[in-house]
Amino acid sequence: MIIDSLRSLSLSGLTLGVVLACAAIETTGQDFQAMRDRMVDTQIRARDVNDAAVLQAMRRVPRHLFVPDDIRPYAYDDRPLPIGRGQTISQPYIVAYMTQALQLQPSHKVLEIGTGSGYQSAVLAELVKHVYSIEIVPDLAESARRALAQAGYRNVEVRAGNGYLGWPERAPFDRIVVTAAPPEIPQALVTQLAVGGIMVVPVGTSYQEIVIITKTPAGVTEKRTIAVRFVPMVSKPSTRD
Ligand code: SAH
Repeated sequence: MIIDSLRSLSLSGLTLGVVLACAAIETTGQDFQAMRDRMVDTQIRARDVNDAAVLQAMRRVPRHLFVPDDIRPYAYDDRPLPIGRGQTISQPYIVAYMTQALQLQPSHKVLEIGTGSGYQSAVLAELVKHVYSIEIVPDLAESARRALAQAGYRNVEVRAGNGYLGWPERAPFDRIVVTAAPPEIPQALVTQLAVGGIMVVPVGTSYQEIVIITKTPAGVTEKRTIAVRFVPMVSKPSTRD
């Protein structure tokens, strides 16, 4: 009798051990890697992003490290997610779309406006030499810095400040990506774009489109592309009349 109950106890101990081991697998990189591969195959490649380097970067960046703990299980879903302070981490497809539109080269110096979670910065950091990113909410800048360090990115510099002003000390930039929506194209950013450079920016208020701006020796061209919904780019400096 005693032996029987001891045996059943040790059996249930074994069962518990197996359950705990399964729970541990849930949090290993292996499992998240499978989620990322699925994300790339079903959400990104299945649409119109086919740049091999961009797809590779999307397979590598641990998106779950850039979202709050309680929403980690949804990190690889096909949608934006809340990151606190009323802000969001963009949908994976939109991150991939904008990154592809930038036509990045490894030697590039890139400016991002709207660091948010730091996820887009990490995707850029996989592909170029150096990323500068500006976030207007100091707490978000700090948590993005932490997430980027935890994920091992050393080539991203995050600054708390107003992105409308750009980062003149580091200009010109080969590429600029804006991940909050200004009502119109911020001219200071066009000025800080190198000749031969590309800027990708969601423009508009209730209706927004991703605009691809190319700067050539002959001037600046704008191409309107897909409709999107980003949080607004706030604190536009007032112009004097
Ligand atoms: N790229 C982000 C998405 C960020 S959402 C990511 O991958 O998670 C947009 C971010 O832009 C928000 O964090 C918001 O605080 C920031 N933002 C809004 N207006 C800004 C401005 N004028 N300058 C810099 N950041 C701004």
